[in-house]
Amino acid sequence: MKLDFEKIEALKQLLSQPKKVVILSHTNPDGDAIGSSLAIAEVLKAQGHTVHCILPNRFPYYLKWMPCSDELIIHALDKLGVAQSVIEAADVVICADMSSLSRLEALTEIIATNTTAKRVLIDHHLSPSDEFDLIFSFPESSSTAYLVYEILKAAYGTEVFNQTIATLLYVGMITDTGNFAFSTINAELFRAAADLLETGIDVPTIYNNVYNSFTEGRARLFGYVINRKMKTLLKGTVAYLSLTEEEMRRFWFQQGDSEGFVNYPLSIKKVKMSAMFSEQQGGFIRVSLRSHGKVDVNTFARRYFNGGGHHNAAGGKSFMSMEDTIAHYIKAVEEYHNEGLV
Ligand code: 5GP
Ligand code: MN
Repeated sequence: MKLDFEKIEALKQLLSQPKKVVILSHTNPDGDAIGSSLAIAEVLKAQGHTVHCILPNRFPYYLKWMPCSDELIIHALDKLGVAQSVIEAADVVICADMSSLSRLEALTEIIATNTTAKRVLIDHHLSPSDEFDLIFSFPESSSTAYLVYEILKAAYGTEVFNQTIATLLYVGMITDTGNFAFSTINAELFRAAADLLETGIDVPTIYNNVYNSFTEGRARLFGYVINRKMKTLLKGTVAYLSLTEEEMRRFWFQQGDSEGFVNYPLSIKKVKMSAMFSEQQGGFIRVSLRSHGKVDVNTFARRYFNGGGHHNAAGGKSFMSMEDTIAHYIKAVEEYHNEGLV
């Protein structure tokens, strides 16, 4: 990765005196969002800054083991308005693992109107918006955590990586690469992981914490969704899954329980694109999209579901009923197919 030396200097300059820093990440935060935010926070706190990390909504229960995660401010649960007051007092706002302020949902307005803080973006999604003063955008980076590793290393040296920070960054790297398996990985990432391992992090325990820490309800819901709700299109090459609020209640659904389900149809050899539709509180449907190889779900998400993401992993929203959302998806897949895109 080629970091722009001038941008690193600009970041160091911005943080050359103790500052009030707020770190934000995207709605439905994942291991990369949380790991990246908390790792930056730990390093900046050690440099003498006052740092708060804010998320728009709750993170999955199986990530609660992550070091420092009890310090995260969850805006959706924040009745006292702590998030708003720390944002209003901030000198610097750092957005990690998101490419546009709109990914902050209810916080977007607060950032847009209640603060004149300098805005820094550290991200690996496609098409970063120009709402930021200092932009570190590397869509070719497999995770934001890897990018954070490179930025922190360039700014402060590898000495700043203790076991806590290394664990946080490692979680980000594995969550966004399917435990170092996706086409986005490269030798630089393995070198970075080697540096993190040298701090003494416990890789098997981290793996189990991330991948083997679910409830019985999630296992049973997974079986139900694959068995009863998986449908295919185009001779079995495109799949989709759906989950209603009633079904979630039936399986004692907890936030995060359906995370990863969308990947499963891609384990079928013929399947090259998969979608998951899940009803959300607030009356909309969350759309998750995954693909193999050339099939571009980022474009698909932008075109049909007002969303975005990466080439092989993207998402969006639908404000129609489940039935209409699925009908819209089926039509969109046909259109995409007729253009030779799937
Ligand atoms: P997931 O399916 O895990 O929610 O999201 C997969 C990828 O798509 C992530 O990189 C995420 O940031 C992106 N993504 C998910 N939902 C949206 C959305 O509503 N808008 C945009 N722009 N990106 C999204
Ligand atoms: Mn990410």
